[in-house]
Amino acid sequence: MPTLDAFDLSGTVAVVTGGTRGIGRAIAAGFADAGADVVPTARTEAAVEDAVADVRDRGASSLVAPTDVTDERAVSDLFERVEDELGGVDAVVNNAGINPDAALGPPEDVDAEAFDFTADVNLGGAFDCARAAADSLAERGGTVVNVASVGGLVGLPRQHPYVASKHGLVGLTKSMALDWAPDVRVNALAPGYVRTDLTAELQENERLRQSIVDRTPMARFADPEEIAGPAVFLASDAASYVTGECLAVDGGWTAR
Ligand code: NDP
Repeated sequence: MPTLDAFDLSGTVAVVTGGTRGIGRAIAAGFADAGADVVPTARTEAAVEDAVADVRDRGASSLVAPTDVTDERAVSDLFERVEDELGGVDAVVNNAGINPDAALGPPEDVDAEAFDFTADVNLGGAFDCARAAADSLAERGGTVVNVASVGGLVGLPRQHPYVASKHGLVGLTKSMALDWAPDVRVNALAPGYVRTDLTAELQENERLRQSIVDRTPMARFADPEEIAGPAVFLASDAASYVTGECLAVDGGWTAR
C-alpha cells in the first residue's frame, strides 16, 4: 500500500468522546478530514449538534447522541445507535476528561468526591466506552485511542486525582492491548499543555504561562489541531503494528 494511503480512514466509523471542544473537537475534525464517519459526543446537546454539523461539513456521516461517559446505560445506548445507524465502530477515541478545581491542591485538601468523579470520567468512562464497543471493534479490526496526558507519565504536584486517573488510563491502555490483541489495537496519547478551556487559567496567569513555556522545549503551548494528527495516525493502518503504546505529544516536555 502506498505510504500515504495508510493514513486514510475512508470507510471507517469513529466515536470521539468530549468531541465538542478543544482537543476532542480537533480530533473529530481530523478524523473526518481523513475520510472517517465521526460521532463527536459530550454531555451538552447544543454543543454536540454544533460539532456534528462541523464533521458533516467535512463530508462525514454522523449522528447527534449527547452522552455522559459516566452513565453506563447511556454509553451502551450510544454504541447501539452507532451500530444501528452507521453499521458499527472502528475507532473509539476516549478523550472526555476533567480536572475540576475541587480536585486540585495538596493531597490533604482534595475533596474525596472530586477524586472519585475525576476517576469516573477520565478512567471509568474510557473503560466503559471501550467495553461497549468491544464486539464491533473485534469484528472490524478496530482501535482504541485513549487521550491520557503527560500527567499519565510523570507526577504533577497539586493534581493528584487527575494524575492518578491518567496513570490509570495508561495502564488500562497496556492491559487492554494485551487482552484484545491481535484483533483490536489499543493505544494512548499523552498531550502536554494545549490551548483549550481546560488550561484557560494557566494561559491567563502570565507567571504560570511563562513557567510552562520555559519548561517546554518547543517553547509554547500546542494548538488542539496538533493532537489530531497523532490521533489519526494511531487509529490508521499506518500504526498497524503499534499497540499498548503511549505516544507523548508534548513539545519535548517529558524528554527532560
Ligand atoms: P475541554 O475542557 O476543552 O473539553 C472537554 C470535553 O469533554 C468537552 O467536550 C466536554 O463537554 C467533555 N466532557 C466532560 N465531561 C464529560 C462527561 N462526563 N461525559 C462526556 N463528555 C464530557 O478539555 P481538553 O480538550 O483540554 O481535554 C481533552 C482531553 O485531553 C482530556 O482528557 C484532558 O485530560 C486531555 N489533556 C488535555 C490537555 C490540555 O492541555 N488541554 C493536556 C493533556 C491532556 P461537556 O462538558 O459538554 O460534556
